[in-house]
Amino acid sequence: MGIIRFKDHPTIKEFNGLKKFFRSRETPISRKRIDDFKRFVEVIQTSGDEVAFDMMGSVNFGQALEHSDTDVVIYMNCDTGRIGDCDHENCSRLNIYKNLLINSLVYEYSSHSYPIQIVDCINLNQLDYDIKIRNFDSMALIKFGFYRSVCRGVNRKLLHSYESRLQSDEELCKKIENSIADCFEGLINSNSHSYSFKKYMERIEDGGSKIPGTVVEKINSYLKK
Ligand SMILES: [Zn+2]
Repeated sequence: MGIIRFKDHPTIKEFNGLKKFFRSRETPISRKRIDDFKRFVEVIQTSGDEVAFDMMGSVNFGQALEHSDTDVVIYMNCDTGRIGDCDHENCSRLNIYKNLLINSLVYEYSSHSYPIQIVDCINLNQLDYDIKIRNFDSMALIKFGFYRSVCRGVNRKLLHSYESRLQSDEELCKKIENSIADCFEGLINSNSHSYSFKKYMERIEDGGSKIPGTVVEKINSYLKK
């Protein structure tokens, strides 16, 4: 897991405990998706750039099936040192990577294509800057702390230095930790979140396993927050 500092946060602990149950029953497709993204990281590295990903959704829970969407967060250095939000409107590099990702991953490497959603893009320049100036209101740091605590990283070593720099600033961590709770509140209260849990439980049962009553209880109590 990414940021050790946040691992005892009650909601993060609860979420990751549930995730562990699903992950221990991982589908082969989930593993394959991770491998696809690892290969993509290598392709980018040959051009001299670095990217990393946090996998969300079904790959994060190890429950991806052949045609499941793959939801990812991408980490990259925005256009030549640019600080600020990295999104489709103001970032040329993100669009290049997105097209590359769709083309190389889906059409060349995989015999079966699947939809990829870039849910968020974290600009590493921005992270670097916000850690340096100790930006207590940094959205980038909050999102980074959140994703790194609950998602599944690909090319994690690119993120290590940011994680350890953040963790070495206790005051900054405290502020971020409080805001992570708000991220969860938004997540848990979204319909798609409880729908996802239902879907993953069905997949496991379709595979012939029974979900223990204690796990069902834990899921229900988590979703009721
Ligand atoms: Zn950018």
